[in-house]
Amino acid sequence: MKVLVIAESNEAGLRPASLRAMACGKLMAAESGGDVHWLVAGHQLDRLAGEASRYAPVLLVDRPELADPLAAPWSAAIAATVAQEGIDLVLAASSSFAKDVLPAVAVKVDGAMIADVTSLKRCDQELEAEVPRFAGSVVTTLRLSCWPAVVTVRPSVFAAAEPLASPAEIQPLELQGVASDPRVTIEQHASRNASRPDVTEASVVISGGRAVESSEDFERLVGGLADALGGATGSSRALVDSGIAPNDMQVGQTGKQVAPHWYIALGISGAVQHLAGMKSSRKIIAINTDRNAPIFDVADYGLTADVYQAVPELIESLKKN
Ligand code: FAD
Repeated sequence: MKVLVIAESNEAGLRPASLRAMACGKLMAAESGGDVHWLVAGHQLDRLAGEASRYAPVLLVDRPELADPLAAPWSAAIAATVAQEGIDLVLAASSSFAKDVLPAVAVKVDGAMIADVTSLKRCDQELEAEVPRFAGSVVTTLRLSCWPAVVTVRPSVFAAAEPLASPAEIQPLELQGVASDPRVTIEQHASRNASRPDVTEASVVISGGRAVESSEDFERLVGGLADALGGATGSSRALVDSGIAPNDMQVGQTGKQVAPHWYIALGISGAVQHLAGMKSSRKIIAINTDRNAPIFDVADYGLTADVYQAVPELIESLKKN
């Protein structure tokens, strides 16, 4: 089986989520005696290609049309790579970018797609995937017998790919039919708070719940603790619905899936829809005034306390040390 893993990047380089998708790609290639490559696409990519080659061989498509993450040129580039290189399986981490681009790839290569899988294996000539539904309370097993297959994987369930002993080959590709679509252009990229890491990729996530009463308090308590620990800020849906936290911070069933080393829940009750987005975190700490709150059932460490009292003290003592 020939596997292609789509490399997504940010200012810091390869996204950790893509390294996790690569771990899945390596498993699939090893199981079938096949091979796995990155597709590193975009514009002016020397640094990114070099970084990616530390983990797997790279197919490099460097074109100005791919400078922005737009579905039309990107899906054309991925589909052309699939056709030219005889790819059987396209993998990417579940992300907004993958949601936008990968369905178009599946259509263009006349393949089929499964999104957001938590397990993937080959069974004879088919792929078998597990996809959680209803906040993880149901796991659906799907069989896909159409090639090429296009699959997005939930990064939180895979460990990041290990680097190779020495960098692999970087092979530039010339592709036909990759054109930008003048009907869709990017006006601007506005970053809310570039000083904090993305909630899906941070190793420490501090999330606030309904206990936090205003945006100012959110910034002071949740943001303050995040800054003291070098972490990202997240939120329960209660705070997003009330306009206290921005939508892109929501963790949970209808928000983002996170699996940091440390997840700190401040005044979050632990509804099943919230747990669906963070229960794979390695260690969970909860602060809540209600000792019977369900969040304590999944927490490794719990503190029965008022966040308005405990969090400023915590920030103060972290600043001192
Ligand atoms: P609450 O449940 O109101 O809990 C607040 C907690 O704060 C309580 O435990 C309370 O004891 C504690 N508290 C209060 N004051 C303090 C204080 N001063 N100090 C310390 N603790 C205090 N929710 C999500 O989060 N993410 C999702 O993606 C999501 N998707 C959903 C999808 C569907 C289809 C549905 C129906 C719901 C979804 N929800 C989601 C909503 C979810 O069911 C809960 O309503 C929500 O998670 C509750 O948020 P919360 O824990 O902040 O608030």
